[in-house]
Amino acid sequence: MDFDETMPTDSASGESKPRRQSENSTRPAKRTIPEKWLIASTLIATYFLCNFIFYKMGLVQKSTLQTLAGLIAFGMISFLIIFKAKFNIHFHEQRLKLPIIIVAFCYMLVAFYLDPATQIIFTPFAFIAIAYAMYRVRTHTLSTLVGCTLFGFGIVIFLHYRQWHNPALLKLEVMHFLVLLFTLPLFIFQINKIQHLNRILRKASRKIKYIQADAKRDVLIDCFNRRYMVAALEEQKQIADENSSPLCLAVIDLDHFKKINDELGHLGGDEVLRLFSRIAQENVRSEDIFGRYGGEEFLLIFPNTSLLPALNTSERIRGEVEHFPWDDALEHGVSVSIGVTQYIPGESVLELFSRADTAMYLAKQGGRNQVVVEEPVVEDNQPDLFPEILELDLPERDMRFGMTSF
Ligand code: GH3
Ligand code: MG
Ligand code: MG
Repeated sequence: MDFDETMPTDSASGESKPRRQSENSTRPAKRTIPEKWLIASTLIATYFLCNFIFYKMGLVQKSTLQTLAGLIAFGMISFLIIFKAKFNIHFHEQRLKLPIIIVAFCYMLVAFYLDPATQIIFTPFAFIAIAYAMYRVRTHTLSTLVGCTLFGFGIVIFLHYRQWHNPALLKLEVMHFLVLLFTLPLFIFQINKIQHLNRILRKASRKIKYIQADAKRDVLIDCFNRRYMVAALEEQKQIADENSSPLCLAVIDLDHFKKINDELGHLGGDEVLRLFSRIAQENVRSEDIFGRYGGEEFLLIFPNTSLLPALNTSERIRGEVEHFPWDDALEHGVSVSIGVTQYIPGESVLELFSRADTAMYLAKQGGRNQVVVEEPVVEDNQPDLFPEILELDLPERDMRFGMTSF
């Protein structure tokens, strides 16, 4: 079997770099709950601060400020209770941005009713409140909200005029109303475009995720594919070098697969490959990496594992395959030949692979349906590197590697 070290290239230079799984994630981290509260609280605090400055300038009465402070405290405590009690999970939009901005608009209208000067603060914060909810609330809902707000604004103007009969104030408030009437719908129109763009981006990001997942998988057999396995082996070698941790590799080949194809047909052969892949994956740990290298040949990487457990797992897979109730049409059932070896620090993945591959061929030569281990050399001054090997007491050893059949 040839080992192809073709790796995904990361740079324009075409230099191949092993990829860490964590590096594949380019998504920005999601905001935490305290961060979300901080954003909302900052907006509310800024609104209150503006009112406070107006109060200090003598434009807003103390009673208005006190009413606002009370309403804001009541609103925040209410929402805090709702979120703590997880009431929000019963709603489609669980962050409750629409209720939050409805409450915000109501409070701003109350402040406007109590003190006409606050209409100056109302306008920019109306835009800020809509922007706050723009990714969560659909534009037609926002349009309805804007319609209701303008209606409320109109009622407050009417109430002010009925109360004070002040034409100058009426003129100012109507001007403000008209500004809002023309600009808020334009703002919603722009948000609609942004939401559309956002939907396209989300769709594209979902597609990229599927493509990335597909690029790793062998869809016929439902396991990792060759490209992924080569990258994973290089990555695991690096981890083993960095952490001085053990690493093992098994090369697995189905025996007499040509004959299986002859007996079951090509589609039947495919089904045998799928079943074998399932058996193998059911018999490895979650951290082990199993994938198809090509045809009826598979690789099994054992990260942070020394030879003895890797050997045991390989032997378990071999036994499970041998005893699986295969199709009766198969004259000799199905068996696998497995070559296992351990990584020698500093060697290349090609050397590691070649050794496991050689072991697999020795298993074939030895009569198939067996596991052969190619034991790395144990230097006299490095007994700690491969402690299990010393305990294995393998029957045959040459100068560099020992070979054992099971
Ligand atoms: P050995 O025990 O020496 O490994 O013998 P073998 O017949 O398994 O090995 P050989 O390499 O001679 O043949 C492998 C066969 O596997 C040939 C090829 O048609 C078949 N094969 C490769 N890929 C697939 C596949 O995806 N599906 C099916 N059904 N057959 C495949
Ligand atoms: Mg074969
Ligand atoms: Mg083969």
